Amino acid sequence: MVEMNLEHIYKKYEGNEKYSVTDMNLEIKDGEFVFFIGPSGCGKSTTLRMIAGLEDITKGDLKMNGQIMNDVEPKNRDIAMVFQTYALYPNMTVFDNMAFGLQIRKTYSQSEIKKRVDNAAEQLGLTDFLQRRPANLSGGQRQRVALGRAIVRDAGTFLLDEPLSNLDAKLRVDMRTTIAQMHQRLKTNMIYVTHDQIEAMTMADRIVIMNDGKIMQVGTPHQLYNEPVNKFVAGFMGSPSMNFFEATLHDGHVSDGKGLDVAVPEGRLKTLGAYNGKHITVGIRPEDIHAERVALDAMPDQIVHTKVVVSEFLGAETMLYCTAGQSKFTARVDARDYRNPGENVDVAFEMSKAHFFDPETQDVIR
Ligand code: ADP
Ligand code: MG
Repeated sequence: MVEMNLEHIYKKYEGNEKYSVTDMNLEIKDGEFVFFIGPSGCGKSTTLRMIAGLEDITKGDLKMNGQIMNDVEPKNRDIAMVFQTYALYPNMTVFDNMAFGLQIRKTYSQSEIKKRVDNAAEQLGLTDFLQRRPANLSGGQRQRVALGRAIVRDAGTFLLDEPLSNLDAKLRVDMRTTIAQMHQRLKTNMIYVTHDQIEAMTMADRIVIMNDGKIMQVGTPHQLYNEPVNKFVAGFMGSPSMNFFEATLHDGHVSDGKGLDVAVPEGRLKTLGAYNGKHITVGIRPEDIHAERVALDAMPDQIVHTKVVVSEFLGAETMLYCTAGQSKFTARVDARDYRNPGENVDVAFEMSKAHFFDPETQDVIR
């Protein structure tokens, strides 16, 4: 049982002008699978390393089950960590690599160690490889050994820092399932750092999205995708990214003066009153731009005449990269609505799904 609280945590590395982490506040409930995501350099690893005790906390409190942990030695924090570079001992077998962390602690009997390693190996599909050396394993198997090293410890909290980024795409997908199952079985807290939003979307109970050392939003994958609190979150979640337009709102229309001019449905206008006649940032996801006939018929005031610049047929769907005048955007349409580059196509912007942001603060307008 571990409940973790980060209370107003700051980190400034010696010699740096800037804080790497600023006023981080977070509560992690027992058994939760939490993801930290955000662009490179935003402070994810720094936060994880402060939790592990590998970096000092400059200011603020780290609590586990209500107890302040700031000055507790890493080995006494009941934490197991898996890194991106999983340096295994090349001269040791898989068994010994996994057992090593237990051997050096000297508190486990040999039979207990064997039991734990065998159990972890079984969970990770490594039973047949226990006598091999790392050189004779595939990348995915090696990464599994690195996970195994962590789970034999039975720690209260697992910290994983980009554990899959050295694997190829296919293996990453396989390992996502392995890790998700591992969490379901162990039911311990896991904090997982990644810059890959797909990994976070597919596995997380909750996602903490960071930028420039600060938390931007904390929520379920669903909340972050559908109710982003600001333009940063809106643009980070989703691939291809949300389309953004710097526009003006007038007479129930948004127009960017470059080729985009669409009506905003009555229901959405209600909250936008203060922006009438003013600048507003409009965001719309590629899947909310449609090319099929029924959509065009249903939204005659939201049609945009466009030219296709690049077209990607993806089997089940087609990605159209379009221009309307000087405006550019991406539409994710049905595979049947494939168009060749250079063709004209009318699309409907489903503005009831659009997101509106204050152009100054970049916060969502509610
Ligand atoms: P992320 O893991 O999100 O990519 P990091 O936590 O590694 O980001 O880094 C956050 C910021 O702190 C970056 O600006 C980085 O340059 C700085 N930083 C990280 N580690 C150190 C260090 N050991 N010394 C000085 N600055 C560091
Ligand atoms: Mg990092």
